[in-house]
Amino acid sequence: MNRAYKFRIYPNKEQRIMFAKTFGCVRFVYNLMLSDKIKHYQQTGKILSVTPARYKSQYEWLKEVDSLALANAQLNLQTAYKNFFSNKKAGFPKYKSKKKSRKRYTTNNQHGSIRIEGGRIKLPKVGYVKIVQHRPMMGVIKSVTVEQTPANKYFVSILVEYESQVPEVSLQKFIGLDFSMHDLYVTSGGERADYPRFFRRHEKKLARLCRWYSRRKQGSKNRERMRLRVCLEYERITNQRTDYLHKKSYNLAENYDVVCIETLNLRTVSRQLRLGKSVSDNSFGKLREMLRYKLYFRGKKLIEIDKWYPSSQICNVCGYKNSAVKDLSIREWECPKCGAEHDRGINAAINLREEGKRLAASTVGTTGSNAYGEGVRRLQSEKLAETQSSSK
Ligand SMILES: [Zn+2]
Repeated sequence: MNRAYKFRIYPNKEQRIMFAKTFGCVRFVYNLMLSDKIKHYQQTGKILSVTPARYKSQYEWLKEVDSLALANAQLNLQTAYKNFFSNKKAGFPKYKSKKKSRKRYTTNNQHGSIRIEGGRIKLPKVGYVKIVQHRPMMGVIKSVTVEQTPANKYFVSILVEYESQVPEVSLQKFIGLDFSMHDLYVTSGGERADYPRFFRRHEKKLARLCRWYSRRKQGSKNRERMRLRVCLEYERITNQRTDYLHKKSYNLAENYDVVCIETLNLRTVSRQLRLGKSVSDNSFGKLREMLRYKLYFRGKKLIEIDKWYPSSQICNVCGYKNSAVKDLSIREWECPKCGAEHDRGINAAINLREEGKRLAASTVGTTGSNAYGEGVRRLQSEKLAETQSSSK
C-alpha cells in the first residue's frame, strides 16, 4: 500500500539555489519536449517520443541537476498527453510558465539515494537538507516531491510503500453527514461542524492585504514584500483549513465504522458557488478524500449515496417524501403526514445514515474488501433502474 507524508524542510542557501535550478530545468525540458512533439506532429502527423537525454549534449547545464527529476518531467508530459486523448474534458498539454507554474519536482529513491538521517533528508544532487519530521514514517521511500510555495516555504511529499495490514472490523457504528455551506456538515446525531467562522476572520485580513498589494508600484521591492505577505496569509488559511479537516475526519474515522455521505455533485458545487467563497478550495472534496483513506486504513468504510437519493426530502420518521423541501432556503419543516418537526440537515443526515445501513446490509463480505465500493455502486444502479421502470 502507498501512503504520502508531507514535511517542511529548511534548505540552506546553496540548496535553495540547487532547487531553483532544478525547478527551472524541469520546466525547460518539459516545454522543450512539448514544442518538439508539436512540431513533429505538424510535420509528419505522428507522435514523437522524446526523452530528456537527447537535450543534454545541446544544453550542458541540464547535467547539473537530478536526472530523475527530468525523467519525471517526461512522465508528466506523457500523462498529460494520455489524459488529453482519453478524457474529453482534459485540454491539450500546456506550456509551463515561469511565473504561474508551481515550483516542484519529483525524484525517485534508488538504493537509498533518498533517506532520512538525524533530522536531515538526503536528496540526490542536493545533499542533506534539514527536515522537520513531525510524525514517524512507516515503509520504504519510493519517491519524493520537493515543492517551494509562493510564500517561499519548502516542503517534501514523501511517497512510501508498506505492507498492507488493514484490520478486520465488524461494521457497527454508522453516521450520516449532510454537507452544507453554512456548517460544512451536519451529522445524523445533530452535531454541526461549525466550520466557516474561523476562516471568515482571516478572510477579511487577506482581502485587506490584497488591497494593499495592488496599490504598490509594479516591480517595486515593496510590492514583492507585500506579495509575500499575501501568500503567507493565504497559506496560513489553507493550512488551518486542512488542519481542521484532518481533525474532523480523524475523529469521525476513530469513532465510527461507517460514514455515509451524499456523492459530491453539481448541486453541492453550485450551492457552494452561490453562497460565496467561504468554503472555497473544495473543502467538501478534501474532507471526502481524508475520510476515505482514514477509514480504509482502519478497516472501515465510506459509503457514498447516489445523488438521486432524495435525502433532504424524505421524512426520516414516516418515510413521506415532501417535494416542497427541494427549495434550499427551507431550513426547517414539519412533515405533512406524521407531523414530525425536522431540521433540514439533520433529517438528511439521518436518511443518509439509514440508506448506508441498508446498502451495507445488502452487500456481502462488508469488511476489509476493496470490492465493497463496487458492490454499493452496483446496488444503487440496480435500484435506480427499478425506480425508473416503476415510474413509467
Ligand atoms: Zn413524517
